[in-house]
Amino acid sequence: MKVRTRFAPSPTGFMHLGGMRTALYCYLFAKQHGGDFILRIEDTDQERYVEGAVEVIYSSLKEGGMDYDEGPDKGGDYGPYVQSERKEIYLKYAKELVERGGAYYCFCTKERVESLRDENGNVRYDKHCLHLTKEEIQKNLELGVPYVIRQNIPEHGVGSYEDAVYGHIAVDYNELEDGILIKSDGLPTYNFANVVDDHLMGITHVIRGTEYLSSTPKYNLMYDAFGWERPVYIHLPPIMKDATRKLSKRYGDANFDDFVSKGYLPEAIVNYIALLGWAPKDNSEKMTMQEMIEKFSLDGVSKSPAIFDDVKLRWLNGEYLKAMDDEAFYRISEPFRKQSKTYGKYDGRLIAKLLKTRIEIMSEIPEKIDFLEEYGEFDVNMFYHKKMKTDTEMAKTVLPLVYDALNALDSFDHQSIHDALLSLATEKQFKNGQILWPARVALTAKDVTPGGAVEMAEILGKEESLRRIKFSMDLLNK
Ligand code: GLU
Repeated sequence: MKVRTRFAPSPTGFMHLGGMRTALYCYLFAKQHGGDFILRIEDTDQERYVEGAVEVIYSSLKEGGMDYDEGPDKGGDYGPYVQSERKEIYLKYAKELVERGGAYYCFCTKERVESLRDENGNVRYDKHCLHLTKEEIQKNLELGVPYVIRQNIPEHGVGSYEDAVYGHIAVDYNELEDGILIKSDGLPTYNFANVVDDHLMGITHVIRGTEYLSSTPKYNLMYDAFGWERPVYIHLPPIMKDATRKLSKRYGDANFDDFVSKGYLPEAIVNYIALLGWAPKDNSEKMTMQEMIEKFSLDGVSKSPAIFDDVKLRWLNGEYLKAMDDEAFYRISEPFRKQSKTYGKYDGRLIAKLLKTRIEIMSEIPEKIDFLEEYGEFDVNMFYHKKMKTDTEMAKTVLPLVYDALNALDSFDHQSIHDALLSLATEKQFKNGQILWPARVALTAKDVTPGGAVEMAEILGKEESLRRIKFSMDLLNK
């Protein structure tokens, strides 16, 4: 049997990280078994239609490296892959389910259904229309009386199944209601469409969030009534912001695209969310997609809610940035470097190189390099550094020497600057720090900088470096 999994998002206009994780597990599981991963768009709730929302789904999966084998924009043998294009199919199967006794027509008016509201405000349908005769139903249909089709849930008994993560699940049928399968607009509800589609699309493993754990017995009733084989169910634990709150769009911390625009790499996000609810046996953390495919296993999926750990995601992202090649980082960091005051003033490649190993997320870039443009009068006490054995007197002595050494250079690259400053230390019998610390402070007017004197001089260039050293010498002599 070929494994087939599906990701079935509703087009809401944004990709929730929880949805992204479901898609990822569907992808990993299918690929590990040499199977197919299918994308299906669940858009039967027309009131929630959002322009461009489907494109967000395509692009997020693409960016996340989850290439589906079949889907609306890909085609495949089991289409259409958009539920609103499958209306006739659902109606046909709903009618068949009515024939088989698993569902029934309901002609009750909204008012009648409302009148069933109990003291807690809940409406529970009373199976009134289940008892209509064949003739009454036929007559109503001919007269065009609006109707819905409801599921006929047994009044007694227990529905049970084995979930691959949560184990034995049993739900008393009297806790379930005769929910609507086909709405009065002729479109199916999720409760019906998921069953028909998963069956017709040959889905073998249904992977989705725990919110469906206890409604699955309803779906199984339908599989059984149709005589269809039930899929394997794999429900996934929720992703929490903290002990009590779910990660949600409302807190602005759940949208995949927001993370990307903050400067997280899609691969790092995907790697991180893989770990939200699953741990590989060898406890690896940084993994390529291929490694995740190899290591994924259902017994490593946890039942407990996963807590989203921002610090860990940042760390992992930093690891991905460090591992990038310089040119690739130069390119992807461009939009962030553009936000800095320094943009266009210095060699972008040198700046990118300086940053690559010193940030965790790219949104840190502007503040990390803005200081290069904030040069001006500074507190000369910064020349004091106990460990480096320097102070203002030392700076007064060495800065003119640094000035001359740099001024003498024809080529102002990293190696030449490095050699010039270090040989100055050797020749004049200073400690390296006694040259490098004053030079760094003089060049930047800061005592904390990403990179030391050599990197700073290289980025600033010869002319600006000399101007700043001169400025500092004057400041010291004031
Ligand atoms: N459209 C459903 C959702 O977005 C899909 C659930 C499922 O995978 O069956 O929650």
